[in-house]
Amino acid sequence: MGETIVRENPARIHEIVGTVDVATPAHVAAAVGRAQAAFPSWSATPLGERAAALEAGAAAISGAAGEFGTLLARELGKVEADCRGETGFAAAWLRWCNEHAGTALAGRDIDDEAGRLVVHRRPYGVVAAIVPWNAPLILSILKVAPALVTGNTVVVKPSPLAPLAVEQALRALAACLPPGVVEVVQGGAETGAALVADPRVAKIAFTGGEATGRAVLRAAAGTITPVVLELGGNDPAIFLDDADLTPATMTSALWGTFLTSGQVCMAAKRLYVHRSRVDEFVEGYLDAADRALVLGDPLDPDVTIGPMVSASQRRGLVALVAGATGAGAIAHPLGRVAPGADLDAGYFFRPVLVTGIDPAAPLVVEEQFGPAVPLVPFDDEDALVAEVNAGRYGLASSVWSADEDRAFTLAARLACGFTFVNCHNRSGMSLRAPFGGWRASGYGREFGPEGLAEYTQTHAVHRPAAVAGAGRAYPT
Ligand code: NAD
Repeated sequence: MGETIVRENPARIHEIVGTVDVATPAHVAAAVGRAQAAFPSWSATPLGERAAALEAGAAAISGAAGEFGTLLARELGKVEADCRGETGFAAAWLRWCNEHAGTALAGRDIDDEAGRLVVHRRPYGVVAAIVPWNAPLILSILKVAPALVTGNTVVVKPSPLAPLAVEQALRALAACLPPGVVEVVQGGAETGAALVADPRVAKIAFTGGEATGRAVLRAAAGTITPVVLELGGNDPAIFLDDADLTPATMTSALWGTFLTSGQVCMAAKRLYVHRSRVDEFVEGYLDAADRALVLGDPLDPDVTIGPMVSASQRRGLVALVAGATGAGAIAHPLGRVAPGADLDAGYFFRPVLVTGIDPAAPLVVEEQFGPAVPLVPFDDEDALVAEVNAGRYGLASSVWSADEDRAFTLAARLACGFTFVNCHNRSGMSLRAPFGGWRASGYGREFGPEGLAEYTQTHAVHRPAAVAGAGRAYPT
């Protein structure tokens, strides 16, 4: 008997949601072999036919949004409406890739006085997609859609903390495609390590934490396999002295942090508020939380924030908040608990806003990945820009101002891959806008034309104009 992953419901940890078999290194090798065997025919399939098959896959995924959404909510603790939204977003990205793949694969064909140059854009071959648990449907389809439409085949390894819905969704997609075009291997670090070390893997797309990213890069060095690395972040949300702090803005700022219980790579993880507006900000933020945050079981339609995903994630957050309050910071409890919710049954953490904190405290300078957000007042924009740009991470950020031009000007000075203006997190994403990190947040891009281009490589075919008189270049 092989090893099995047993997935519990983080809201009711005695409830088993499902199990999957762990892929051994031999299973991984077989999946890569099937993907490799499928590659020649899939890459030679006309783009229109590939896109039609993927459109059928998008329809299958969005048609089952309710089923996948409920399963995802149960295995992840994320509220059900959010989970359904993730399914819809995944289908929309599949369609966006279909629509734009022609441009991504277009290459160049030039014949002029400088010579003849044809630049082909070709798929790599077998892509390994390694996915974390926090938004597993969208984060797997973010890799699978551009890889497949440009002619690659893919082996996906989901996280052991969210293996179920993603496998079902990928099976629904795979049913619309030839065998071997999409494969799924389940397991943890060992399965992932076997996949990325396979020399037949031609490209790796990884989303996850920094330490794992390093391990993936080390493995990729052995085979010189190119990697897209989407790692963690510690996004600053910067509220300028003229920020519009209406109830609607405060609700948006709140969800910028607390969506998926704060467990989002691009969540606002530290709030920098101009000192002249701090009192007003705190009052508006607590009010917004009273209106919007209801903690409880993610299957309850009145609940807007669920538990954390695991005991270890919660332990880490408890330690960060205790460290801050132990040093004199104040943790303001946010929102309310749903009537009848049993918070002892799962990995619940009451959301908090932390004020009066040392700007160098671990809760400010590390990625907390959970529902606790520090607020740090600032006086000087230049000093703040220098401070946040000196941080280890450079994933995303946001600037909030009533003057949009002022916000865009300040945004351009921030050293990171994405800056939201007057919003933060998922509501500020766009399918056409490239997303990815600087520094320890990784490199490579997802979304937009750049996200499609990651899955093609160029091949230039060239005859220079001067061939007839080549003696000019080399002595004869
Ligand atoms: P993780 O690094 O623990 O795991 C990510 C994936 O890597 C999992 O599937 C895991 O099983 C696999 N893995 C573990 N060891 C491996 C190895 N040696 N070789 C290959 N694969 C291996 O991350 P997590 O806890 O699942 O996710 C949370 C992290 O992901 C946070 O830091 C978050 O910020 C980051 N994240 C980043 C983005 C982004 O777009 N930048 C998006 C979502 C999450």
